[in-house]
Amino acid sequence: MTTQTSCAQARVEARLEIAHVLCESRGSRLTPLRRRVLEILLQQGRSVKAYELLELIRDDQAGAAPPTVYRALDFLVEEGLAHRLDAINAWAACHDAGGEPHDLLVVCTGCGSVAELSDPALTRRLAAKVAEAGFRLSGHETELRGLCRACEGGLP
Ligand SMILES: [Zn+2]
Ligand SMILES: [Zn+2]
Repeated sequence: MTTQTSCAQARVEARLEIAHVLCESRGSRLTPLRRRVLEILLQQGRSVKAYELLELIRDDQAGAAPPTVYRALDFLVEEGLAHRLDAINAWAACHDAGGEPHDLLVVCTGCGSVAELSDPALTRRLAAKVAEAGFRLSGHETELRGLCRACEGGLP
């Protein structure tokens, strides 16, 4: 059990290091608070709602004010280190920051886990279809709601 936990933490540390290097190469800064917010998202391994995040962060940073945390989240989203999930008003860490951009996000409505997918061709088709209807697709990420295998298996 202990080994498993430290293994997971090692993966989180590795992701944080990638984030740090990415930010540095772009001239932006992963401040301690931004880093802590990203660490929490990575540790949760699923999407996290704002109030949950605030509770988690207050465990070690009692004075963290919501606007500061929101700004940290905005930063992480702008840098592609996290995804904002409008449909469920939550955030999730990106597990391949610096790789192919994820343009399709599937959120489990049962447990909040997220699948990050990349399919630019599909997104282009979607944008064309949306344009036919007289709309312009906003944002570069499409959210889909679903049930993950674990949650579907848990259904009666
Ligand atoms: Zn991602
Ligand atoms: Zn689920």
